Amino acid sequence: MRKRLFAATTLLIIAALVCSFAASVYSAYRSNLKIAKDTVMEITRIYARLYGDTADIAAFVSSGDDTRVTVISPAGRVLADSRPLDTDALENHLTRPEIQAAADGSPAAYVRYSDTLGSDYIYYALPAGSGERAVFIRAAIPVAKMDAYLIRSLPLLILLLLAVILLCFAFSRGMIGRLVKPFTVVEQRLGLLSSGEYASAPVAGTYEEIDAIVRGIDEVAQVLQSTISDLRGEKAKLDYVLRNIGDGLLVLDENKLISLINAAALRLFHASPQVIGKSLHHLSNHPALVDTVRTCASHKEDALCELSIHGRIFLTAAKWLPDIRLTMVVLSDVTENRENAKLRETFFANASHELKTPLTAIKGFNELSALHNKDAALDKYIESIARETDRMLSLIGDMLQLSELETTKALNPVSVSLAAVAAEVLGTLSPAIAEKAVTFEIEGDAMVSAEPAHIYELMKNLMENAVRYNHQGGRVAVTLTGNGAARLVVSDNGIGISPDEQARIFERFYRVEKSRSQRGGGTGLGLSIVKHICALYGWELSLTSRLGVGTDITVVFGGGKRGMSAV
Ligand code: ADP
Repeated sequence: MRKRLFAATTLLIIAALVCSFAASVYSAYRSNLKIAKDTVMEITRIYARLYGDTADIAAFVSSGDDTRVTVISPAGRVLADSRPLDTDALENHLTRPEIQAAADGSPAAYVRYSDTLGSDYIYYALPAGSGERAVFIRAAIPVAKMDAYLIRSLPLLILLLLAVILLCFAFSRGMIGRLVKPFTVVEQRLGLLSSGEYASAPVAGTYEEIDAIVRGIDEVAQVLQSTISDLRGEKAKLDYVLRNIGDGLLVLDENKLISLINAAALRLFHASPQVIGKSLHHLSNHPALVDTVRTCASHKEDALCELSIHGRIFLTAAKWLPDIRLTMVVLSDVTENRENAKLRETFFANASHELKTPLTAIKGFNELSALHNKDAALDKYIESIARETDRMLSLIGDMLQLSELETTKALNPVSVSLAAVAAEVLGTLSPAIAEKAVTFEIEGDAMVSAEPAHIYELMKNLMENAVRYNHQGGRVAVTLTGNGAARLVVSDNGIGISPDEQARIFERFYRVEKSRSQRGGGTGLGLSIVKHICALYGWELSLTSRLGVGTDITVVFGGGKRGMSAV
């Protein structure tokens, strides 16, 4: 600032001085010219006055100094000249402007170049004498004579100019120094503020305006310091949390460059914090990870995958954060979960198998006992055994079915008519329908590509529930539509499900009313089987229900992601 101010002031002063110098030289020239013109006019007037008595024109025009005096006849011929010239050889002077002006009665001075004498002259002419002695008297003085004064005083003027410039230079330097000094205080304070070492100090009190700025900086600094310390505290907490999170955390910007990585992720990929700011490839080239991040960052949608790293399984969830335009990747170690789930599944399947054989035998023996029983008192026990073994067999059947669905790797789908399957299920439900006097309607049809047993199980469970959890004389409608994706809606006007229960009824063994379910032959696994089948094919399953009004369960056959895990 100081340099620029100094340069600008100096330039301005020099320009002003040079201009005023030029203006004063010009005005001196103009006033010299005016004096010279007055002088030449005065000389001409004196010669014109004196001419009347003159007999010897040559002696009359003689001049002791630089002044040139010329006598010219009215016809323009030079009669005499104070300069030693051959007057006969001189050209006619009638066309000279000063002679023309004198002849016109309005004499005037002219500056022009004299061919005869070879320099600039100021000319003035007046008529003189009368009759035969009438002539023009012309006087001229060289311009160089007048300029000589100016040229002589020029070095002094330039010297003066330089001295003034130097003085101004020194003065402006001092003045700018004093002017700029308070700003250096502001500059120092701002410097301290930016380096984080700001300490409040009293204002200098030199300039009111600068003091106000310094006070403003003080206030801003205090707010900034408290905000920075808050932020530091928050960052320290965040760093601590990130360091201690067991899951790996990775944040990538829109160019898929790593902008944050926690300690767990660094350990997992054997990387150092220098990986921040670099592309994902510097961390890992795992195709599933690269693919998941690419899908999430490019399509701005969440993506999921499983990674096997150093013999462990990591569930990797990539989430697009639209507000900050970042992709967040969380890697959770699910190795134990997976192993436990596998153990559970194996136990589930084995236990079901082991229980099925003795139960089938008990059922057989009970039927034999029923045939050969002669004691009427035992009938109620035999009936009870038959009911309970049937219930347990159906439970084991459902358990086996669930574990089968969980272990299904390949499907053999064929085209299945939903209406045909619905009619088949309806046949098996006839006793229950008759017992409850339920009105049952099947409307429309749609073709679905699936294993027929899966469609049968799905529809059986939904239709059975619609009858089981209905009122006496209730109504059930199975609506099948095939426009676009095939759709099945099983609606009833039965007991309905409260909003709290709706989220849970798809869990294994979850029953809203255990006794009612058991009485109707329910196992608590029906909707879980339905959910597994839908997940296996990637179908959409949804429910709307109102307590005491009824329930609609909808399956949309199509869309979704195949193989999603079910609860
Ligand atoms: P369950 O074998 O007990 O019927 P489900 O898994 O099929 O087991 O159903 C779970 C629970 O959801 C049932 O016990 C019942 O309370 C409730 N539920 C299922 N379908 C309906 C329905 N259509 N209306 C009312 N409640 C229902």
